Amino acid sequence: MRTETTTKTKDEPEAVLSNGHLGNMSSSRLSSLLASKDRDFLLSPTGSQVKVCDLEGKLVGLLFGANWYAACRRFTGMLIGIYEELRNKVPCFEVVYVSSDENLSAFEAFYAHMPWLAIPFSDVDTKIALNKKFDVEAIPRLVILHPNKDEATVNGGVELLNRYGVLAYPFTNERLEELKKEDKERQENQTLMNLLTNPERDYVLAPPQPDTKQVPVSSLVGKTIGLYFAAQWCLPCQNFTPKLISIYHKIKATVSEAGNGEDFEIVLVSSDRDQACFDSYFSGMPWLALPFGEPEIRELARHFDVQAIPTLVILGPNGKTITRNGRNLINLYQENAYPFTNSKVELLEKQLEEEAKGLPRLVFHEGHHHRLNMASDGNGGGPFICSECDEQGSNWAYQCLECGYEVHHKCVRPIST
Ligand SMILES: [Zn+2]
Ligand SMILES: [Zn+2]
Repeated sequence: MRTETTTKTKDEPEAVLSNGHLGNMSSSRLSSLLASKDRDFLLSPTGSQVKVCDLEGKLVGLLFGANWYAACRRFTGMLIGIYEELRNKVPCFEVVYVSSDENLSAFEAFYAHMPWLAIPFSDVDTKIALNKKFDVEAIPRLVILHPNKDEATVNGGVELLNRYGVLAYPFTNERLEELKKEDKERQENQTLMNLLTNPERDYVLAPPQPDTKQVPVSSLVGKTIGLYFAAQWCLPCQNFTPKLISIYHKIKATVSEAGNGEDFEIVLVSSDRDQACFDSYFSGMPWLALPFGEPEIRELARHFDVQAIPTLVILGPNGKTITRNGRNLINLYQENAYPFTNSKVELLEKQLEEEAKGLPRLVFHEGHHHRLNMASDGNGGGPFICSECDEQGSNWAYQCLECGYEVHHKCVRPIST
């Protein structure tokens, strides 16, 4: 099954800034975009009509979305929070929903949750023209139009808001540069102490419950650390946690055997909703945890741009980030992934490639009724979700050309023919 990868690997938000023709428009700029020849108003949540010309001078976000797509529902939920926070501070901010809903009742049901304006569902022409104008190929998409015509139009509002939330305001090039600079500085100054402690707390927790031990963060300095973003309510976490526990024990055994002073530890960064869920989830884990509900949890998720859980971020002995892709590396290479460094991953990739040379091009696999073909990055491969273990894979895969079924080669259970 091809999917949008759940573990994102990109480091920068893709804010596309373009100095389009929009900047040169007169005061009727918004009217030409949002009104039609028979309509000079937008819908509002109260059911009343709002004149398009009332938006002149405001900072306007065009939200392209649809209720049938979970990512749109998620982003809309987040945008509502940001909208409400911003509207308290800057009344000149407005959002206009441009619907790709399948029918009027779907539109009405989705729009009922939104506190902002909308293009009437029936005005197909305007919606098509807007999608075309802003090259909307995927939803959700948030385009930000600045009242000041010298400002660029921000096309990548979704990435910007996912990453920076309300901090991204006022969504200008300058603000984006500022945020990137701050991120860079934070990354350069990143240490285990400043990631995991605050003035009131210099420890993390160790099991077992209920007599949870406090472990000073200073005792972790110099180790390779995995920050494990997870929660009990998260289904993929329920699949991944047992694997990670088994691999954690294997890595711990290897480093203690090596006896060269290296060590590995994992710290749970929980997004559980209450203390009881946190306690019950953590009680089954052999590693450490940030205490439930600490403000650092949100800060860490933002700092490492954690978009989905489970995520395993690996920090080197110097406290700097080695990879945010620990989960993938564990899935691909199990305990051999340790210490997760670039040089180790390159080595493993080469080994995998060598190994793949010796593997059959075609297999019959117990879990599927068609023949599977080996696919590589170059010929139909690339990131996929393994139908056997539900985890992400990359590079080599066994693939059914008829139905798109794909598995890791480690997950193939061959049928001898
Ligand atoms: Zn698999
Ligand atoms: Zn098939």
